[in-house]
Amino acid sequence: MRLYNSLSRTVEELVPVESGRVKMYACGPTVYRSVHLGNLRTFMLADLIRRAAEFEGYRVTLVQNVTDVGHMTDESSPEAVDKMQLAMEDEGLQPLEIADKYTKSALEDMQAVGIRLPDLMPKATDHIPEMIDLTETLIERGHAYLVDTGSVYYDVASFPDYGKLSGNTVDKLKAGHRDLETDPAKRNPADFALWKSAGPGRLMKWPSPWGEGFPGWHVECSAMSMKYLGDRFDVHTGGNDLKFPHHEDEIAQSEGAVGHQVVSTWAHGGFLRLTGQKIAKSAGNVVRVEELLERGYDPLAFRWLTFQTRYRSEMDFTWEAMATADQRVKQLRRHVADWGPPSEELGPAAKDLDSRFREAVANDLDLPTAVRAVNDLDHDPDVTPGEKRALLASWDQVLGLDLERDARSAWEPSDEIRRLVAERDQARADKDYPRSDELRDRLQDMGLEVMDTAEGTRVRPRD
Ligand SMILES: [Zn+2]
Repeated sequence: MRLYNSLSRTVEELVPVESGRVKMYACGPTVYRSVHLGNLRTFMLADLIRRAAEFEGYRVTLVQNVTDVGHMTDESSPEAVDKMQLAMEDEGLQPLEIADKYTKSALEDMQAVGIRLPDLMPKATDHIPEMIDLTETLIERGHAYLVDTGSVYYDVASFPDYGKLSGNTVDKLKAGHRDLETDPAKRNPADFALWKSAGPGRLMKWPSPWGEGFPGWHVECSAMSMKYLGDRFDVHTGGNDLKFPHHEDEIAQSEGAVGHQVVSTWAHGGFLRLTGQKIAKSAGNVVRVEELLERGYDPLAFRWLTFQTRYRSEMDFTWEAMATADQRVKQLRRHVADWGPPSEELGPAAKDLDSRFREAVANDLDLPTAVRAVNDLDHDPDVTPGEKRALLASWDQVLGLDLERDARSAWEPSDEIRRLVAERDQARADKDYPRSDELRDRLQDMGLEVMDTAEGTRVRPRD
């Protein structure tokens, strides 16, 4: 299995640290507001890498954090508005109530789009001691320093590799006059907070060796990934927007603390756009799972829609494309039901399609090519219905479209329907087409879809 590594900027063979097991970490939801389809496309990347690795025979451990503290402040603005605090004021709830509410809704939305829940979803607020330990280690190793206010900063100049992921090296950051956090006590404008002292009125704060405060956002992912996956693991995912500063800072923290490389492969997903703009709360163009449901779409069809574009590319969401994807997934489910029981053995044409699908998935998740294999299978006269059923059932382990749904919901025709079907087959055998058409109309009037197949008339309830 090959994946594009943002660190080396090449597609590489996935070689797990521990033979046979892939250890993954995904940056998870920030729980002071609902997730949108753009977030879900990013979370789906981790889900798809996990499914693809399992399809290749690996065991996979996936850890995805829940950010319920630390990402709540807009660090580039001097007023530093705490977003959790704003949500609390808006909704009249306590921090934990806000976090619980939006964690629950994030998990529901993830499952609605077929994301299998990670093996572990640690919460940042449950790992404050680990973040304090990591910060202390970084101070001891000369990578961090305490300032008068009680905040602790990472000293980016102490980590020569700073910038290796994003290309934002310390020199470039200095030259670019970027909108970096302003604290006159910092040694370098690019230094970032590991721990921040609690200002007046702050509700979410914890005791620390440096006084009451709260952790920076980046430190939570270093602390939790290494706690659960160890100081060498295989794949770390996130959206392109997390490459800098979040993942760059995570590398500086984790590698600064343990003295060697921690993550082998950094996988980043492209944005989802709506009307040409990245979907984001700030752009006011957020689409949520709720809206898919309101419009009558199966949220799983959003997966099929995303499969049409390589995961690293930006993708445009349109309601027209969503409607097409929805129809296609429903059609595939009907076909699966119509194909009857799966074959045990595969003939040469089916085996050929199977290897095309598998190669596409293993080739840096080339899902547009995998989708072509699905479409070709659907129309391939050299593949039997039983083989088609067997292949799609297998491929659905990666696709996650619940393609067996219609086949599972066993629909049994009534005796009257059976009698009409038998009568129609007789009429067709007798070439009595007016009678055959009349019987078809009667079946249709009963709410059935009537199909002429090589085995005779087949009926099923219309959608
Ligand atoms: Zn993270």
